[in-house]
Amino acid sequence: MMVDGWNVRALSTGRFRLDGGAMFGNVPKVLWSRKHAADDKNRIELELRVLLAEGHGRRVLVDTGTGNQWDAKEQAIFDVAAGDEPGVCSALRAAGVDPADITDVVITHLHFDHAGGVTRRGSDGPVLTFPKARHHVQRTNMETASAPNEREKASYLVRTVGPLSGADLHLVDGGEEILPGVFVEPSDGHTTGLQTVRVGAGDGAVVFVADMFPTAAHVPPAWTMGYDLCPRTLMKEKRAILERAVRSGWALVLEHDPFRDAVRVMEKDGRFEAAEDVAIQ
Ligand SMILES: [Zn+2]
Repeated sequence: MMVDGWNVRALSTGRFRLDGGAMFGNVPKVLWSRKHAADDKNRIELELRVLLAEGHGRRVLVDTGTGNQWDAKEQAIFDVAAGDEPGVCSALRAAGVDPADITDVVITHLHFDHAGGVTRRGSDGPVLTFPKARHHVQRTNMETASAPNEREKASYLVRTVGPLSGADLHLVDGGEEILPGVFVEPSDGHTTGLQTVRVGAGDGAVVFVADMFPTAAHVPPAWTMGYDLCPRTLMKEKRAILERAVRSGWALVLEHDPFRDAVRVMEKDGRFEAAEDVAIQ
């Protein structure tokens, strides 16, 4: 899909499973299980989608999947693969892109299922997967990931965050146009310093909303996750994005949705819902 001189594609870096109850917070299972069937461990299957934007002399990757540094116990819990290289590298090659040619890695936040592929297993511990790339992350997210609170300790992993101190690191303070026509906006409801990534200045932009809207089922503001740090903050932030998305025909890319890359949304009787599936390719 072409947007403002960027060729934008959604790529699958693999799948994993998380507890369905945790994914839907206080939404009853009788409601969420109609949209996502649970397995015998109450887990639902989720996508690990990333965005590739090529243009303006840059190759930009938004998020990196879970990476491949998983021990046997973690693989069993999350039903996650640990291949010879991070899934994001295989996904890039399948799309005809050499991982060494990535110029920018935009990290929505440093939770392991978004930034796990930022590092890979080296002979002497974790090393950067994209050592030549510029890495863009919100300063407040880097701070919270470096000294995580008790609630999020299991999501911010030292093997992901540690090597970033040696990266070409752009610590972003709030909203910014980080590349021509690529805008990041901060959000604090899911975790401190998440950033959404919008490609396109005008109508019809593509917006990578990360864990603010992990699946299409999470479009209604009140359908939040048990993982969210501040659901009330998140509901306000979701509403603000939804209002702009309806007005401007934005495609919201759904990082964890196993059924569709993205949706356009509509408002009906004061309620927001997914109106149309959009393929980002
Ligand atoms: Zn997250």
